[in-house]
Amino acid sequence: MPETSHLKLAHLYPAEMNCYGDRGNVIALRQRCLWRGIELEVTPVEPGDEVDWAGFDLAFFGGGQDSGQALIARDLLDRHGPGLRAAIDDGLVLLAICGGYQLLGHSFLTHSGERLPGLGALDVHTVGGSQRLIGNSVVEADLATTDTMQIEGDGWPSVVKLVGFENHSGRTYHGTGVRSLGRVLAGHGDNGEDGWGGAIYRNTIGCYLHGSLLPKNPQLTDHLIRLALHRRYGPHTAIAPLDAALELRAQETMTSRLLRVH
Ligand code: GLN
Repeated sequence: MPETSHLKLAHLYPAEMNCYGDRGNVIALRQRCLWRGIELEVTPVEPGDEVDWAGFDLAFFGGGQDSGQALIARDLLDRHGPGLRAAIDDGLVLLAICGGYQLLGHSFLTHSGERLPGLGALDVHTVGGSQRLIGNSVVEADLATTDTMQIEGDGWPSVVKLVGFENHSGRTYHGTGVRSLGRVLAGHGDNGEDGWGGAIYRNTIGCYLHGSLLPKNPQLTDHLIRLALHRRYGPHTAIAPLDAALELRAQETMTSRLLRVH
């Protein structure tokens, strides 16, 4: 890795798509980069903005209400469809939460019967239900299986119990073109039925975990940074471990609380 590394992140529709502090994911990425001397340049992508997706290393797409999703779904598809799909196929490191995850799939049929078209980058589709799926959640993920490339470690074990908070009416179902991020150990997950929590395609991860997710789960934050560095600067991009004692204590407290057998 060069002495001064620089990564570029696109933040999709930060005004319309920002539930439960999802913006905190961008702050966590920027801060953990900064602590390592890596500059993370963040570009908000607002409705109407033209974007050269090939110029970005990372992207973040947060959750939103059905009404917020309806405002941007057409812009996402018409303006960014080919460019963003190509970048995802090319290994863009993208984290999408809840409403953002839904819109990366084929479609979202909302609870009120409106069909929102999705980008079709992830082989998933979503159908709204009458009962919202709400609560704290734990998903056991093997991050090693999310790599599209062999990259050096960051000192974390690859299996991690991700802690988050979910609140969605949409039920997301996986097709054969995605892998699961992990099993739901607590909470509802993608649809409350099949036990899957999140989906992965190349370096794109979609899941229902608000929280904000990344401040609560530094293992995933570092994993995304590592993937982006590898893609930008090539192999041998191991990153220095950081003290995460407080984050890990909070994570362990939540997992033991949520997984306690009564
Ligand atoms: N509006 C979507 C749903 O209710 C997404 C919600 C969210 O992003 N929290 O399923």
